[in-house]
Amino acid sequence: MSKVKFYYDPESLSYRKIERKKRNTFKFISVFLLATALFAFLFVFIAGHYFESPKEKALKRELTNMQLQFDLLNKKMQEAETVLANIEDRDNNIYRVYFEANPIAEEQRRAGFGGINRYKNLEGYDNSSLIIETSKRLDILQKQIVVQSKSLDEITQLAEEKEKLLAAIPAIQPVSNEDLTRMASGYGMRSDPFTKARKMHWGMDFTAPRGSPVYASGDGVVVRADSGSSGYGNHIRIDHGFGYTSLYAHLYKYNVRKNQKVKRGDLIGFVGSTGRSEAPHLHYEIFKDGDRINPINFYYGSLTAEEFSKLLEHATLENQSLD
Ligand SMILES: [Zn+2]
Repeated sequence: MSKVKFYYDPESLSYRKIERKKRNTFKFISVFLLATALFAFLFVFIAGHYFESPKEKALKRELTNMQLQFDLLNKKMQEAETVLANIEDRDNNIYRVYFEANPIAEEQRRAGFGGINRYKNLEGYDNSSLIIETSKRLDILQKQIVVQSKSLDEITQLAEEKEKLLAAIPAIQPVSNEDLTRMASGYGMRSDPFTKARKMHWGMDFTAPRGSPVYASGDGVVVRADSGSSGYGNHIRIDHGFGYTSLYAHLYKYNVRKNQKVKRGDLIGFVGSTGRSEAPHLHYEIFKDGDRINPINFYYGSLTAEEFSKLLEHATLENQSLD
């Protein structure tokens, strides 16, 4: 029940009832509600601003932890970058140099991802720069690893090739020549044993008694073992691959057949004097891409420096060949 209020009217000298207008009531309620709403809003705003809810506190902790983890990840990434840089350095300056491959340029290893901005979806957050920097770093690291891995694949292949090449090259003397006295005549202008005229001697002559063993000077395949070439008599040709062929002439007997695979040092035949030959000896030639070259240059690996210079001295003497 609402209280009824009165007021004193001096004109009529009587108490009169205060009539509350309906409009006033409405206004009063409106103002009250507005004030309440404003107050509530202010309260929530201030409380939200200065006091954290448990959920907010948990989220904040989580965020701090994540930032810490990001920092740790960045440190680990730096370690990985250092290790990789070390490998790249060795790759460029040792492995690739050794196998005669061009070094991989720095720009090629660290090439970015120009053009489109691939980190757009990471923009617009408080931690954007941290996340973008880390992502970029990881992307570059990933690419560097791919480049490095490819380079090592290439090196592996080159190493295999080089191993084959080293095994194939005709790099030892074709007869046992321990005291280096067997080399009778070298490559170059020599006098012909039959005509005595000065002419080119395309190989090396090793004197040895008939029946002395003759060895393959490198890995390869026997492409000929016959007497079909004029002058050479019974002779063997070995294809070593990489453009190299070696030839062994005036043989007494064969120890291999055509198409047979041989290894360096295998016994392939025996010294004789068949064909255009003055006395038992082995005439030995090396072909590179079809041209005959001086065999002396291939012994340096199997001889000491002194032995090599002694052999070289013998080989350059302009004597008479045994052909
Ligand atoms: Zn000769």
